[in-house]
Amino acid sequence: MGVDWKVCQLCEETYPDCGPTQFCEGCKTTFCGYCKEAEIGETCPLCRYEMVTPDAVLAWAIVKYKLPPKKELEELYRKDMLAKETSDETQ
Ligand SMILES: [Zn+2]
Ligand SMILES: [Zn+2]
Repeated sequence: MGVDWKVCQLCEETYPDCGPTQFCEGCKTTFCGYCKEAEIGETCPLCRYEMVTPDAVLAWAIVKYKLPPKKELEELYRKDMLAKETSDETQ
């Protein structure tokens, strides 16, 4: 019998299963009891979409789907937008 250590998804701290924890009714996820940024009431910041910012989503997608770095994506986006503008003019 040992203590289960878990990683809090909000502050990324490890915390013992037996220690104080906070539970989100929305996603049924347990967070550590010390999370200040969490302020978990009935739902956590993830459920309230507070953490789902365009920057956070992009950073996640780059790692998850092995996309080029943000700078490169911005360059590709810019080129694509410029190309679109030129093709629109010819129509
Ligand atoms: Zn939640
Ligand atoms: Zn935490």
